[in-house]
Amino acid sequence: MQKDRKLIIAGNWKMNKTAAEGLALVNDLKLELANVKEVDIVVCPPFTALCEVSRAILNSNIRLGAQNMSEHSSGAYTGEIAAGMLKEFSVRYVILGHSERRQYQKETDALIAKKALAAHAAAIRPIVCVGETLAERESGQTEKVLDTQVRGSLAGLSKQQMEETILAYEPVWAIGTGKTATAAQAQEAHAFIRKLVGTLFDETVARRVRIQYGGSVKASNARELMGLPDVDGALVGGASLEPRSFADIIKNSI
Ligand code: PEP
Repeated sequence: MQKDRKLIIAGNWKMNKTAAEGLALVNDLKLELANVKEVDIVVCPPFTALCEVSRAILNSNIRLGAQNMSEHSSGAYTGEIAAGMLKEFSVRYVILGHSERRQYQKETDALIAKKALAAHAAAIRPIVCVGETLAERESGQTEKVLDTQVRGSLAGLSKQQMEETILAYEPVWAIGTGKTATAAQAQEAHAFIRKLVGTLFDETVARRVRIQYGGSVKASNARELMGLPDVDGALVGGASLEPRSFADIIKNSI
């Protein structure tokens, strides 16, 4: 099926790569992916590599994302980074509510919604992550969990802001485990999320919003996953740390 939504594939480097290592990675990616126009390509280095990577991808088809940001614009928040600081490095996207932050930093849907609004206020597109744990899936709670997370994490966004938000469906049991959701599981969850966006916003927003799949995406499963009717890209962890594997995911998705 021909989708009218452009695929968006983002690499989440997590707490990996020094600035020098990040520079080497994007320099390789620039060569590998120079001719790709069909996919929005995003790399999300750690904060400490943003400056170097930002300079390196200037005038390329690779865009910059961050992995988190504060809901506040400035002030006494030791260790936090504000949207305005990210803008200085031409950051266009920010991952919000990744399951690792939900788990280790106890981020809530309400906090993620505040961050999403702060990102939009700075013209940074949030990539809002949702997804169920294995225990939740096995006890039949997947839709209930996704419903709560989607409603809570997107609360207060306007229709326009929602259209410019990227959603990432990342089943927690598939992240970094080598276990990928089956095509049927991924499509079912994505269709559910899109329908919910239609209910919460409207049909046009639901038709336009892009929903990435994340969870052990690699070159060998990218084509099948990206070909699903409601999958509009990928959020890639482990396989985004090597230029060859990230480039192959993108090339296999076209
Ligand atoms: C992620 O961290 O968002 C992710 C999907 O990781 P991996 O691709 O390693 O499963």
